[in-house]
Amino acid sequence: MGERGPLEALLVDPGEASGKFLTRTLERFGLAIYRAHDMTSAVTAAQERGFDVVLTTYILPDGDGVELAERLRPWLREAAPVILVTADATPQLIERAFRTGVTDVFSRDDLGHLENFLHYFLAQGSDAVVGARVLLVEDSNTQQRNVRAMLERRGFVVDVANSVAAARHLLTEQEYELFVIDLVLSDGLSGISLIRQLRRRPEDFVLQPVIVMTGFHDAARKSELYRLGVNDYVLKPPQDVELLARAHNLVLIRRLYQQVEEREQLLRVMAVTDRLTGVANRHAYEEVANRYYERAKHDGRPLGLLVVDIDYFKRINDRYGHARGDEVLVKVARAMSQQVRASDFVARFGGEEFVVLLPNCPIECVARKAETIRATVSQRVFVEGGAVTVSVGGTVVEARSEPLAAAFERADRALLQAKERGRNRVEVVPFSPVEEGRG
Ligand code: GH3
Ligand code: MG
Ligand code: MG
Ligand code: MG
Repeated sequence: MGERGPLEALLVDPGEASGKFLTRTLERFGLAIYRAHDMTSAVTAAQERGFDVVLTTYILPDGDGVELAERLRPWLREAAPVILVTADATPQLIERAFRTGVTDVFSRDDLGHLENFLHYFLAQGSDAVVGARVLLVEDSNTQQRNVRAMLERRGFVVDVANSVAAARHLLTEQEYELFVIDLVLSDGLSGISLIRQLRRRPEDFVLQPVIVMTGFHDAARKSELYRLGVNDYVLKPPQDVELLARAHNLVLIRRLYQQVEEREQLLRVMAVTDRLTGVANRHAYEEVANRYYERAKHDGRPLGLLVVDIDYFKRINDRYGHARGDEVLVKVARAMSQQVRASDFVARFGGEEFVVLLPNCPIECVARKAETIRATVSQRVFVEGGAVTVSVGGTVVEARSEPLAAAFERADRALLQAKERGRNRVEVVPFSPVEEGRG
């Protein structure tokens, strides 16, 4: 952990080239490395200074890696892994190695596995979960003190509740990344009622992980707890290594899950947002338009539609540069967004063209909104002192009489008229059964 400095690794390899290679691998993981070339000097070094992890090759001048593992074990720090690297990982060798207390065997040809191992091993000892908030629910003072100290040494921030009632109270004001719960509590309510409360949604299994501490050790009890959705189970009094490794894993999984969720959320937003202006993009427009159209068809209410196009935008780009043009797009989008209701929908359709959907908005309403947008832009958006203007074409979608595309074309034709009649103008064209029938 943070204050202790880097973890110390003992690397035992008689070969010069391979030793250098493994040294570099370990160094990449930030380990402090002590190098030995044979079994005797490796054991002496371990007796003198401990070590957090050992990496040894199988063939040594005065023995082999498995024998070394056996002789080193008493001298290593708690739970230190001993890793064996060999060119020839036969099943016999692997079996003998595991029996002797080797943590894992890796083939020289595939050191990617070794790197993965180191990655996870180091995450266990790292700051990955420091600051994680744990709720410890335990009524015995002694156990409370012990478990709390254990968790705090590892960097967890611990709140303690003596009873289910106290735990419930804390839950109303604080979110926890882990629950460590004693099963039998003195206030009559057992830990089980609390666990039930923590298992209401499927994702609670990951977001509110629970480790149960209990004195019972029978299979029926265990399976009952797992059926309740408990993540892990430790016997009282819990052992350091066991409790901390479990706590660590559960918090890590929770954080990874949250990261994935955040990224997914970001991707969802990015997929429907125009990067430059922050309003919806064309893809989102298609989706929302179809939804609004179906709804209008269903409830028979008018669906207003505006197509808004910036006037002489090419000239703005040509005169003041593309960056200024971009700024204008952002300002126009903002001005439009500010002039519509929450249920209205603004999207950048492409280039310097926007569309606005106005649910429950008949033709006079469409004309009014279009005019508001036109006026607002011309009063608020400037480039180098000159006013920026837009032309607007509007209509009402008659969802029960025409497809959406027909209404869109009509709004587009209205926009063209506005352009032809001088720009900085609004043209609104209502649905006309006769004309549409002919067209
Ligand atoms: P009109 O009044 O008839 O609409 O004329 P206009 O110049 O606005 O129309 P035109 O369609 O000729 O030009 C649109 C310009 O918009 C051309 C294109 O380079 C520019 N444009 C499209 N997308 C962007 C963008 O994201 N940023 C910038 N700065 N310019 C863009
Ligand atoms: Mg144009
Ligand atoms: Mg234009
Ligand atoms: Mg255009």
